[in-house]
Amino acid sequence: MERKVRVRFAPSPTGPLHIGGVRTALYNYLFARQHGGTMILRIEDTDSTRFVPGAEDYINEALQWLGIGIDEGVREGGNYGPYKQSERRDIYRKYVKQLLDDGKAYLAFDTPQELEAKRQEVANFQYDASTRLQMRNSLSLPANEVQRLLDAGEKHVVRFMIEPNRDVVVNDLIRGVVTINSSILDDKVLYKSADDLPTYHLANIVDDHLMEVSHVIRGEEWLPSAPLHVLLYEALGWADTMPQFVHLPLLLKPDGKGKLSKRDGDRLGFPVFPLEWHDPKSGDISSGYRERGYLPQAVVNFLALLGWNPGDDREMFTMDELIKEFSFEHCSKKGAKFDFEKGKWFNHEYLMNMADDELAQVFKPVLAQHVDPAQFSDEYIAQAVGLVKSRVNFVHELWDQARFFFVRPEEYAEKDIRKRWKPETPDIMRALIEVLRGIDDFTSQNSEEIVLGWIKEHEYHMGNVMNAFRLTVVGECKGPHMFDISQLLGKDETIARIEAGIENIHLIEN
Ligand code: GLU
Repeated sequence: MERKVRVRFAPSPTGPLHIGGVRTALYNYLFARQHGGTMILRIEDTDSTRFVPGAEDYINEALQWLGIGIDEGVREGGNYGPYKQSERRDIYRKYVKQLLDDGKAYLAFDTPQELEAKRQEVANFQYDASTRLQMRNSLSLPANEVQRLLDAGEKHVVRFMIEPNRDVVVNDLIRGVVTINSSILDDKVLYKSADDLPTYHLANIVDDHLMEVSHVIRGEEWLPSAPLHVLLYEALGWADTMPQFVHLPLLLKPDGKGKLSKRDGDRLGFPVFPLEWHDPKSGDISSGYRERGYLPQAVVNFLALLGWNPGDDREMFTMDELIKEFSFEHCSKKGAKFDFEKGKWFNHEYLMNMADDELAQVFKPVLAQHVDPAQFSDEYIAQAVGLVKSRVNFVHELWDQARFFFVRPEEYAEKDIRKRWKPETPDIMRALIEVLRGIDDFTSQNSEEIVLGWIKEHEYHMGNVMNAFRLTVVGECKGPHMFDISQLLGKDETIARIEAGIENIHLIEN
């Protein structure tokens, strides 16, 4: 029988969610939605020493910003809660006891100092079948001594007893069958009495089982843990309902081999976190995609293609399209290079595809940092951004490109004056004003026809006249088509700017 698809994203709240973690969440979400399944957000906070305040809220906010919906979780609720591991102590205790009672795990009393001494003494020491009887644990110590230590409240851990020399088979939807020999595994710590909490391995397995997780989709860095997890499912008697493993390819540095790190982002100037992060301890601020001006749809599209491809050369995908098309067959085993320039390209494409009125709404907060947007109609703002959007990758860059639609030039670019403002220019500009005054239909095409006709008729220098015109209106020789600008500004404003230019631009002799 086909299993109901239930997947989980299981971050540890030890800091801001890394962009690689976001991709893991996204792939879980796509797979869940594709199969009408359930997406769980489980907070894996069993390592109290690494807990960072604010990290859980950050995770929620980031997923929400990106449109990665959660069906069951701390905020959403659900029938399999609690969804935070630190609230599930009683549950884990029961399974620790089961493993101990079944002889699949044992108590170990070795102190950190004793373990360290052993490591010094034996090169490549591993706590396993070949060494465990030399250590202080319930297998090597007499039963009454174990009891005495427990009664005395001696700190201890519970270790998983790995049976040596067994081939452990991990079935992975991307990597196929991976077989390893159990002798390379150590007797992992499953539980620590010091904080009465299980370690990641046990909590993760118990929860995946109890939450009826069908597919464990996570980063490649967890692949080495998978054989241990397989053995744990068996030891707990859950081999029949073991989830299907899927280990996603690593995200690699943009310029070389190795895993993408925060340092690469600092070094090459791109964020590795979805949202800006304010470190509560150091006060450091790490930049985020949202604050840098990325659109969530662009980030989703960009991340989706880091490790997955549609099988052809299409690149633009909405979330709904991704849900339809996504598949593990088209995920690569090889790591995916983090091409952040491509991320910018995606953002540009999404800005280009956005309707002008929608883009205008996104731009308004930026505009408000410079002028009062209420002075301008929505229609006006939309047309202005529509004329310049092809020149930007980010919304905040629109101001630089469109500012002259909202404020008159306060100064004029010197290099353009040098090049275009000739002794005869003021007179020609005065004549231009008269020509413009006479135009009734001030639309781009019509004004262009009339003005260019007038320039030709008088045999003026086309480049100089048009650029001088632009200089008075824009303040420099850049921007979209001149007559699109004059149409949007309107006749009166265009003429007023030329007048101001004649007044304020002074000839610079070369
Ligand atoms: N808590 C682990 C992490 O932080 C979860 C790994 C897994 O998905 O099993 O990524």
